Amino acid sequence: MKCKYCGQEMIDIKDYCVNCGKKLKEKEKGISLFGLIGIFIGIIIATIICCYLIINLNTDKEIEPYLNNSVENR
Ligand SMILES: [Zn+2]
Repeated sequence: MKCKYCGQEMIDIKDYCVNCGKKLKEKEKGISLFGLIGIFIGIIIATIICCYLIINLNTDKEIEPYLNNSVENR
């Protein structure tokens, strides 16, 4: 087995190349699935937070002119 990064001949199959230290065994497929789910959940949460903030900003903007008008009227 050769290292695909540096071409170092490997007698023992190890997780990392003894020459360049790069990861050889690809165990990332299972992890990347959970990673994608995590990213997906993160995006959903971020979207919900953004929507919440936008709604709050919009309500503030709607309230502000009303408060300003009421102050000016007095
Ligand atoms: Zn290597």
